[in-house]
Amino acid sequence: MDERELANHVLEIVDQTAYRMSARRILAVHLAVGGRRVFNLERLRVTFRKCALGTVAEGAALFVKVLPVRHHCQGCGNNFEASSSEHPCPECGHPHTEMIGGEELRLLEMEVDDDAA
Ligand SMILES: [Zn+2]
Repeated sequence: MDERELANHVLEIVDQTAYRMSARRILAVHLAVGGRRVFNLERLRVTFRKCALGTVAEGAALFVKVLPVRHHCQGCGNNFEASSSEHPCPECGHPHTEMIGGEELRLLEMEVDDDAA
């Protein structure tokens, strides 16, 4: 998923949520993204701004929180969180750990302009 797909996907969620909330204008969108997704944040912001033109999220600020990736150690079975994809096990030092998830995409919060409602 590249920045454009990601931006479109986010806008879809925002649009549906805004509809449910009967919101006409969104001021800010807070997003949580799994640490395994690789994207350029600045490019995502620019793309989001372009794609949002003419929608409820036009001019909305985009905040992205990158979630830590969970790892599973094949050596000792330990589960832990790490920010990077390659991370040795903190328990036994096993160099090969398996990533679990890390591809989440969640809408945490939306700031709605009440005056426009
Ligand atoms: Zn281990």
